[in-house]
Amino acid sequence: NTETVSDFVREKVAEDCRTGKFDGRVVTRFPPEPNGYLHIGHAKSICLNFGIAQEFPGGVCHLRLDDTDPEKESVEFVEAIKSDVRWLGFDWGEHEYYASNYFEQLYEFAVKLIKADKAYVCDLSADQMREYRGTLTEPGKPSPGRSRSVEENLDLFERMRAGEFPDGAYVLRAKIDLASPNMNLRDPTIYRIRHVNHYRAGDKWCVYPLYDFTHGQSDSIERITHSICTLEFEDHRPLYNWFLDALEIYHPEQTEFARLNLTYTVMSKRRLLELVEGGFVNGWDDPRMPTVVGLRRRGYTPAALRAFCKKIGVTKFDGTTDFALLEHCLRDDLNKTSQRVMAVLDPLKVVITNYPEGQIEEMDAVNNPEDESAGSRKVPFSRELYIERDDFMEDPPKKFFRLAPGREVRMRYAYYITCEEVIKDKATGEIVELRCTYDPETRGGSSPDGRKVKATLHWVSAEKGVPAEVRLYDHLFSVPDPSDVEEGVDYKTNLNPNSLEVVSDAIVEPSVATLEPGTRVQFERLGYFCIDAKDSKPDALVINRTVTLRDAWAK
Ligand code: ATP
Ligand code: MG
Ligand code: MG
Repeated sequence: NTETVSDFVREKVAEDCRTGKFDGRVVTRFPPEPNGYLHIGHAKSICLNFGIAQEFPGGVCHLRLDDTDPEKESVEFVEAIKSDVRWLGFDWGEHEYYASNYFEQLYEFAVKLIKADKAYVCDLSADQMREYRGTLTEPGKPSPGRSRSVEENLDLFERMRAGEFPDGAYVLRAKIDLASPNMNLRDPTIYRIRHVNHYRAGDKWCVYPLYDFTHGQSDSIERITHSICTLEFEDHRPLYNWFLDALEIYHPEQTEFARLNLTYTVMSKRRLLELVEGGFVNGWDDPRMPTVVGLRRRGYTPAALRAFCKKIGVTKFDGTTDFALLEHCLRDDLNKTSQRVMAVLDPLKVVITNYPEGQIEEMDAVNNPEDESAGSRKVPFSRELYIERDDFMEDPPKKFFRLAPGREVRMRYAYYITCEEVIKDKATGEIVELRCTYDPETRGGSSPDGRKVKATLHWVSAEKGVPAEVRLYDHLFSVPDPSDVEEGVDYKTNLNPNSLEVVSDAIVEPSVATLEPGTRVQFERLGYFCIDAKDSKPDALVINRTVTLRDAWAK
């Protein structure tokens, strides 16, 4: 499905192309800070920025690592980001940029502002600065540094860079408007002293520019045309414009769109980091995480994530998207692409008393009814099988059509069987085995006399089946909006205690043992699963449930 749905951002880009605003150029960028792993909200931004670059002639999208805050950034995160963007299906070609490469240029920009008397060195402490900033109804008070001479400011800023002062001794601030109703314009800090090693620049710098002083200038240096960001930066746009105008440099245009929020999860790197560091999940790639690596390990496909991003569209209004819509997009893709296999999660033994001992028959099974080219495979059938425990009832109610004493059902791709006897554990009364007979005339799933059965069960040969650990996942949080907590209550109280259920004694058909880690399959009648890419071993299979079959999305 390559058809493009338009939105206000794309319309704006199209309009700018028509009017020749940026000489018809279209250059977007995706600018993550390498201080964590990407989540599905970032995927929305990736699909938007890279999507626009693909759709407009000559369009280019830059991958820019926005790495000017040395404390939490690392090469590990850079590599993870690059791998996630590629996995999502996008390619930045040679357009890989690092804001930290602009440190010298950004420093020069700051000097230029000082020389124009548009920036000054301020010695207020953080607390004092807050106090001086004023309120919405009260204008800010000038810091004593605001009246420093250009010469003194240049000297101090140079000495800040030279490392003469400890962290926090001074900051550099833009001289804008202490009475502005937009607090961002009340002389924002643009440089601070941090004697911290930077993962790329090393110890070269001890002054670092802040986000607002980095972002627009980086856009300008890279000659971005459309700088697309989330709505919380709308209030920063006047500042974005002020810097570019004051510096008299090339001026891209910032446009804001609504960020993605999803039910039953949280979507901020800070919180995701907290879940990882606090051991509430097993790492960034825990299959319950809304991170790209987590979703990938869970069995999500890049196509499903892209389809989801297309479906939710791009608007100016904040809202929360139903997780069920994401799962709907996932099922849609997996239904078309994943091979069907049989697995039993809660095994109950069936012995077919009239089937020859030691005999194994290879049954033909269709790999994917949605895709003829997927072909077929052989599934071994034997005297002893496992079926799903809840596919049998000793005393079935009226609407239960599956196996019961005296009842005949079809074994998928094999024979009709009839339950003749129920064997129980003498001590506990638990059903441990069913004795059944089969009708040899029904091979392939129909009877020559045309008699009908009402149910078809999946099964696995007890002799040939392979044991597996299956991890069943549910939402990470037990309420739709985990952040909606009363004051003083931590959102983590909403974590779902049952988000992971481990089934240690599942049995899968032997073909599953030959699949590569990461392969996605449908377990017939149970859902979509994938071989865990990290923990699964050829002799100790670990399988994740990606999503159940039932679609809860209300169209
Ligand atoms: P978070 O708020 O989750 O900590 P961030 O915004 O700090 O993330 P960045 O690395 O700065 O993360 O984000 C890179 C880009 O991804 C930005 O342009 C940002 O607007 C966009 N982005 C981040 N979160 C979302 C989201 N939930 N929906 C859409 N776009 C997002
Ligand atoms: Mg950020
Ligand atoms: Mg943020």
